Amino acid sequence: MPDLSPIPLVDLKAQYAALKPEIDAAIARVIANASFILGPEVRAFEAAFAAYCQAEHAVGVSSGTAALELTLRALGIGPGDEVITTPFTFIATAEAISAVGATPVFADIDPATYNLDPAAVEAAVTPRTRAILPVHLYGQPADMDGLAAVARRHGLRLIEDAAQAHGAEHRGRRVGSLADAACFSFFPGKNLGCYGDGGAVVTNDAALADRVRRLRDHGRTSKYVHEEVGFGHRLDALQAAILSAKLPHLDAANAARRRLAARYSQLLADTDLALPSAPAHVTPVFHLYVVRTPRRDQVLAHLQQRGIGAGVHYPLPLHLQPAYRFLGHQPGQFPVAEAAAGQVLSLPLFPEMTEEQQDRVVSALREALH
Ligand SMILES: *Cc1c(COP(=O)(O)O)cnc(C)c1O
Repeated sequence: MPDLSPIPLVDLKAQYAALKPEIDAAIARVIANASFILGPEVRAFEAAFAAYCQAEHAVGVSSGTAALELTLRALGIGPGDEVITTPFTFIATAEAISAVGATPVFADIDPATYNLDPAAVEAAVTPRTRAILPVHLYGQPADMDGLAAVARRHGLRLIEDAAQAHGAEHRGRRVGSLADAACFSFFPGKNLGCYGDGGAVVTNDAALADRVRRLRDHGRTSKYVHEEVGFGHRLDALQAAILSAKLPHLDAANAARRRLAARYSQLLADTDLALPSAPAHVTPVFHLYVVRTPRRDQVLAHLQQRGIGAGVHYPLPLHLQPAYRFLGHQPGQFPVAEAAAGQVLSLPLFPEMTEEQQDRVVSALREALH
């Protein structure tokens, strides 16, 4: 009898099953101590996560979106300023720029890596540009050499959106330590995820870390003194404790993702799918395993029919989203991103995935491509 059970895009239940004793103990500890807001659990996770990222400081915040927004605010970016970013990402990247009153300026991506193209960024710089905000899309570090060179030439800040790339490396250095600051999400499905919303800002800049720490907690400098108008954007202690339990397993989980990704690439090498490709100096962590085909919608429908939870990240680039209609962009303005949006397909991938599950995805794909 062949196994016909559905295969999800990510399987969070399998991950909990593997780590249940540690996670249950962490949750019980927080409840027993009844210290739910900031406190020792948050400080312990921040120290561990900063060390993991090979950086000096980590500040826990309420989400990846909050991490981006607080970083931009802490750098003094606001109305009248422009921040250059990719149109091929989750909308939160651009929303954070809008939230501080600045303008997202899109630049096209590289067709091989789907990450920001430094030459396109250079061409988008104006006298109002203050920062470049690349995304390490699908867990693959952006071209940080090229982007840092543009930032240096024009005196711009460089901020990593590392929401999909916990543990990825660029020239042997972890993301989180490659720019002025890096913003992480701990949304449940991310490579390091909590059991609700969470995020962190990671930086080697002590003043920037202090400002983010103050802004996340109502601008507070002491219990009853609020130095500036801030936000309720703290990481809570329950999430921090869960993250502390999961962090020691992140490297093994990323290694499992890489092994499964390599196996997909081997099994699909003779198809006409375009497979992920990374330059030799980066170590991706495969938040997603993304293939590309002009027959994407047909292939996706076939996989879904077979109970396989494939997805599309992302079908509509940000410059064509209704929310950004006010920027006045037209189809054709970022052709590489637009072509990718019509052709990319994310296959199921999670550290606990079995080779049998992977084989079923591959044979369903072969049927669809036939
Ligand atoms: C998930 C994600 C975010 C937002 O993170 P949240 O924790 O959901 O707010 C931002 N940027 C990218 C690229 C993401 O994938």
